[in-house]
Formats: sequence, C-alpha cells, structure tokens
Amino acid sequence: MIPFVDLKAQYVSIKKEIDNAIENVIRDTAFVGGSGNKYNQEFEKVFAAYIGTKYCVGCGNGTDAIEIIVKALGLGPGDEVIVPALTWIATSEAVSSCGATPVFVDVDQTTYTIDTKKIKRAITTKTKAIIPVHLYGLPADMDEITKIAKTHSLLIIEDCAQAHGAEYKGKKVGTFGVAATFSFFPGKNLGGYGDAGAIVTNDEGLAIKTRMLANHGMLKRHEHEFEGRNSRLDGLQAAILSVKLKHLDKWNNNRIKNAALYDKYIISNIITPKTPDHHKHVYHLYVIQSQNRDRLKEKLKEEEIEASIHYPTALPYLKCYQHLRYTEKDFPIAYSLSKKILSLPMFPELTEEQIKCVTKIINNEN
Ligand SMILES: *Cc1c(COP(=O)(O)O)cnc(C)c1O
Repeated sequence: MIPFVDLKAQYVSIKKEIDNAIENVIRDTAFVGGSGNKYNQEFEKVFAAYIGTKYCVGCGNGTDAIEIIVKALGLGPGDEVIVPALTWIATSEAVSSCGATPVFVDVDQTTYTIDTKKIKRAITTKTKAIIPVHLYGLPADMDEITKIAKTHSLLIIEDCAQAHGAEYKGKKVGTFGVAATFSFFPGKNLGGYGDAGAIVTNDEGLAIKTRMLANHGMLKRHEHEFEGRNSRLDGLQAAILSVKLKHLDKWNNNRIKNAALYDKYIISNIITPKTPDHHKHVYHLYVIQSQNRDRLKEKLKEEEIEASIHYPTALPYLKCYQHLRYTEKDFPIAYSLSKKILSLPMFPELTEEQIKCVTKIINNEN
C-alpha cells in the first residue's frame, strides 16, 4: 500500500524531539497561545526569521489567517479582492467572511497559478487587493503581479498555505506583499499536530492589529479596543512547529528529489509539472494531467496506491457560488484542468521503490 501522505513515518523520524517538546509544554501548562506563551513567542520568532519578515503572528488555522489579515487591512463590504479560480476554498471564503467580494481569475495551463494576463480585465474601481496562491508549492508570477498591483494601487496578500520555503527569484514566498498567510494543517509542508496558522508581515501596525483581531481585540487582558475573535495558536502546536521547522529545508529537498524521480520514471505522454526558471517549487503536491484521469485514479486504487484530486471542482463552479451563474467559458482553463489533474503520492519519506511502483502503473495505463 502506498499512502498519499505518511505523517506517521515523519513522526517516527523525529519522535524524541517531538515527545520532548510536548512534554515541556504540558509540564509548563503553556496550553493556550497568546503573547504570554513562550512557546508561541519562540515559534513566531523562528518562523519570521525563516521567511525573512519582521513579524509573525500565530493563529488558529490558515483560513483564519487570511480572514484576519483581510479584516486588518480594512477590507469589507463594497470591496473586491482578486483570487485564483483554482485553489482551496479558504482563499475566497475568507474574503466573503469579511463582507468583501472575491473576484475569480482563471489560472495558467502550465503553472496552475493565477494567469497574470487575465488579471487586468478583472480589475474595477472597487478592486482593493489580490491574493495570489502559490498552488501546489510553486510560486505565482510575483514580478508580474507586483507590477499590476503597483499600477492599480492594489494590496498583495500571498496565500502561502502550500508553499512553506518556496522561492521566487531567490526570495522566499511570504515576502512579496503587504502580508502573507500560512496554514500548518498537518498535511502541509510544515504541519502541526492539529490546526494552526500564521500571518507574516513587515508592517508593525498590521502585526499588532492582526494579533488583536486574533485575540478578542486586546493586547492587554480585559482591554478590548474592538471586537475580535478567538483564533490563537496553541502552545502545543507552536512547540511542535518549532521542532519541525528545523527539518523543513531537508524535507522540502526530499520532495524536490521525489518530484525529479517521478519526472524521470514517467515515460508516457502524461503532462508532468513544469517549473519556470527562477522558481523554487517545494512540491506540496505533485500534480499530473491525464485525459483518462478517472480511470487512472481507479487503476491506482486497485493497486492500493492513494492518489487525490486538488481540486475536482474549480471554485466558481462549486455549489456555494452557483448563484454567480458562471459557465465553462468564464474560466476555461480551471474548468478543464479540474477534469484532468491528479495528485500523486508526495511526501518527504516517499521512497524510490514506491515511486517506481506508482509510475509503472501510470506508464501502463497511458
Ligand atoms: C490549506 C489551505 C488553506 C487553509 O488552511 P487551513 O489551515 O486548513 O484553514 C488556505 N489556502 C490554501 C491554498 C490551502 O491549501
């Protein structure tokens, strides 16, 4: 059996460090996050240093991270925010939750990230921000996006949920906009043992505002300057993430090696991921395109190989957006990709033997 991800294998490889970190948090009863928790302070410090930003604010999950930063930037009813048509629903959901309107833009056929040539026509007088998603671990075209944002005075919020450690022209994603968000959902490249997320920024005022929004609008206990919410990063997750961050580069390199092995062993006419020059892809997912996707997925399943689809329905076509009445023609690439894409098993501990097994079936099927 070849699983899609193997979180157990990763735990076993760092069991001592993790168990030790968990024990420390319990011994200190440092359960709940917030500015007084030393495990939170430590993680926020090392993660900001890793990404290359001045501030990191931990929060409950990656969806909250987007929602909180959209709110902190003052976006709400009457404002439009550009998001890619192919991503996890959190990206658009967080915009809607703040009362702002997500505006979808189609993605590029090859990179799967937002098609910068199609952004301009989506811009109106109400457009305030753009949320590029570094989908599957590949950075979006940040030069082009930065140029468009400058011309039209738009804020950039990067959704880095799938791209911890990815780089664009030698610079880590998370450093290109006014702020960026991360998810530490267990299966992400850097994942906790439960839900967790963070916002990074170089803007001190924004860091303070997000911290307050994530903790009932207060910095000092009982001094609620405005209404916020409870979205704190908990102590256990912070301590676990600090341990795991030390291994992230090694794990990302293993993902990159595994992707190269897939590239090497896939000899059928299947479309494999292409990484543009000057992009460091960290392969949160290894996504291929097949005309016989559903049959191939079934065949893999028969051989006890778990493959998955990210995502089977592009956002504009989900039931929750049906009232917007989009047709296939509105986002043709996202629409057609959703019928062809297949995510193969991908995790740092995947072995060459396992990759050979998977690719053998793929080569026979196509
Ligand atoms: C996982 C993910 C999120 C949300 O993260 P959660 O921690 O699950 O809330 C947001 N955007 C993208 C692109 C994601 O993959």
